[in-house]
Amino acid sequence: MTARCTACGADWKQGAFTPGCAQCGGSAMQAPCLICGGRCGALWERSVDDSQDADLAHWHGNCRLPKEERDRELRKRSTR
Ligand SMILES: [Zn+2]
Ligand SMILES: [Zn+2]
Repeated sequence: MTARCTACGADWKQGAFTPGCAQCGGSAMQAPCLICGGRCGALWERSVDDSQDADLAHWHGNCRLPKEERDRELRKRSTR
C-alpha cells in the first residue's frame, strides 16, 4: 500500500510532508493530538485512504486530557 499525498506527492511513509498542503495537514504518518495541540502527549495516526479520498488530512486518535479540559479545548477550536 502506498502512503503518498496525491496532491503534492510527499511520501508520508518516509516522513515527508509539505507545509501548507491540506492533504498533508502539517505532518506525515503521525500528528500531535488535534484537539489540544499535543498538550496531552497523544499521537494521532493518519488515515491514508480518507486523506487521499477527501484531499484533506484525516487522523485517528483520542485526546488524553480529562473530559472537562478536552471540552474546553474543543470550544476554543470552534470559536477560532
Ligand atoms: Zn501534500
Ligand atoms: Zn489532546
